[in-house]
Amino acid sequence: MCVKLGKLYVVQHNKLTCSDCNKAYVGQKGRSFTQRFKEYRNAFKSSRNTNYAKHALEDLHPFGPIHETMQILQYQAKGAHLNTIERYFIYKEFSIKNHLNDESNIAPNKIFDALLKLQ
Ligand SMILES: [Zn+2]
Repeated sequence: MCVKLGKLYVVQHNKLTCSDCNKAYVGQKGRSFTQRFKEYRNAFKSSRNTNYAKHALEDLHPFGPIHETMQILQYQAKGAHLNTIERYFIYKEFSIKNHLNDESNIAPNKIFDALLKLQ
């Protein structure tokens, strides 16, 4: 499932940022921005074990409003680059020790390191 943006169907890369400590969770979803925010909020309220909900509940950090918490990083048409772009955004947060994604899926990446040095 993906979101229609003009004439294109795209997937959006989202960043969910803790309003207390700024740690971030990066993911890609085809659902609408507000629908995804509601899913994150419901996970928090029901103590379901998502990385973001787990962080907020264990560290007693609040679940902030959508304008302080969620950010669209990029829209991407479905295709071969979709997962690579997600891994890059996750790696970017990982490189500054600011991520809430599953660390076991993050591997050293010299290309991502080079891209981050250019920014
Ligand atoms: Zn936090």
